[in-house]
Amino acid sequence: FDEIKNADIEIAEAMQDEMDRQQSHLELIASENIVSKAVMAAMGSHLTNKYAEGYPGKRYYGGCEYVDVVEELARERAKKLFGCTYANVQPHSGAQANLAVFFALVKPGDTVMGMSLDAGGHLTHGSKVNISGTYFNIVSYGVNEDGYIDYDQVLEVAKANKPKLIVAGASAYPRKIDFKKFREIADEVGAYLMVDMAHIAGLVATGQHMSPIPYAHVTTTTTHKTLRGPRGGLILSSEEFALEHKLNKAVFPGIQGGPLMHVIASKAVCFKEALSPEFQEYGKNIVANAQALAKGLTDRGFDLVSGGTDNHLMLVDLRSKNITGKEFEIALDKANITCNKNAIPNDPQKPGITSGVRIGTPAVTTRGLNEADMDVIAECMALIAADPEGNNEAVKAKVKALTDKYPLYA
Ligand code: PLP
Repeated sequence: FDEIKNADIEIAEAMQDEMDRQQSHLELIASENIVSKAVMAAMGSHLTNKYAEGYPGKRYYGGCEYVDVVEELARERAKKLFGCTYANVQPHSGAQANLAVFFALVKPGDTVMGMSLDAGGHLTHGSKVNISGTYFNIVSYGVNEDGYIDYDQVLEVAKANKPKLIVAGASAYPRKIDFKKFREIADEVGAYLMVDMAHIAGLVATGQHMSPIPYAHVTTTTTHKTLRGPRGGLILSSEEFALEHKLNKAVFPGIQGGPLMHVIASKAVCFKEALSPEFQEYGKNIVANAQALAKGLTDRGFDLVSGGTDNHLMLVDLRSKNITGKEFEIALDKANITCNKNAIPNDPQKPGITSGVRIGTPAVTTRGLNEADMDVIAECMALIAADPEGNNEAVKAKVKALTDKYPLYA
C-alpha cells in the first residue's frame, strides 16, 4: 500500500477511504464478500504481466510454463470442489461465462428461456438491455404468489415455446432451486440446461444447496459471491455431455483474448480454501445466520418474500413499513449498514425506487458475526424503518460495537 501512496496519492487515498468504509459498515449486499489476504495477494501479483492466450500446453505465447501450472491447479481444484470433469477458469466475470455458454450452445434468433429479472433472474438471462435479450428470442418464467418458482409454469412455458436453452439460477431468489426438475423439463422439450449458480456456489460447495452438476449440461458461476474468491467467472461441465471443446472455443477465442493469470491464480487459492473444513463450517454459518436474520426481521413485523429464506439472502417487502426500497437503502447507509434496493415480485414501484431491499449474510459471516448478532442487525433495521433520522445515532453506535468486535482484516 505504501508503494501506491508513493506513486499515486489520489488513488491511495480513495483506496484508504474504501477500506475505512468496509471496516466501519456492516455489509449486507448478498453478492459481496470479503476475501482472504492470500486471495487478494495472488490477484495483486506479477502474474498480471503475462500473456497466455490459449490453454495449458497449447498457448500462443512463449514463457507460459509456470502460468500453465497455475491454470492446471485452478482447473483441477475447481473440478474437485464441485465434483465434475470439466472446468474453464478463464471467464473474466459471471456475465462473460454466461455469454460464452450462449455462444457455444445457441445461435442468434434461437429461443432461450430464463427467469425474468423482475422475479429475481439476472440481466444476462435475457433482459432486453443485455446482449442475451437482444440477440436471442427470450421467453421467461417467474414466481408464484407465494414467491416460489412454479415448476408447472416453467414446464408450460417450455412446452409452448420449445427453447433450445433453459437457464436456471437467480440473483434475488431466497429459496432452493430444484435442478433435477429443471433437467426433466429441459429433457421434455429437448433443450440444454444451463445453471447459473453464481449466488449459491459457496453453498453448493459446502452441501448447503443441491448441486447442479449431475443435472445441468453446463454450470456457470462467479467466483466472488458466496464462494469468496476474486471477481471472476467459471464454467463447469461433465464428460458425458461432450461440450468441452465447444465451451473452450467459445471462451477463447470466442469472446475473450488473454486470460487474467493473476485472477486465475487467485481463483486457485480460493478453491483450495473452499476445499478446507473451515469453509464447510462457513457455508453452514451463512445459512444459519440468514435464518436468524430472517427470524429477527419477521419478529419485528417485516414481511419477507416467500416468508423466509433457504439460502444466504432474503428479499424484504417494505410495503407494510411505508418506506420504499430506495429510501430504506439510503437511510441504512447513513447508519453504516449497506444493502441494495431490489424489486419484489410484481413490484408496484419503478425499478429505480422499488418496494424492497435484498440482504444477505455472506460478508458478515466471513467477518465472524453469529446468530445473536443477526438479531442486533434486525433490531437496527427495525429502528431505521421506524424513524430513519431519529434513530440514526443509536443504530450507528450498535453497528460500531459490531464492526469493532469483528475487524475486517485483523
Ligand atoms: N449471474 C448471476 C446469477 C449474478 O447474480 C451475477 C451478478 O450479480 C452475474 C451472473 C454476473 O456476474 P459479474 O458481475 O461477475 O459479471
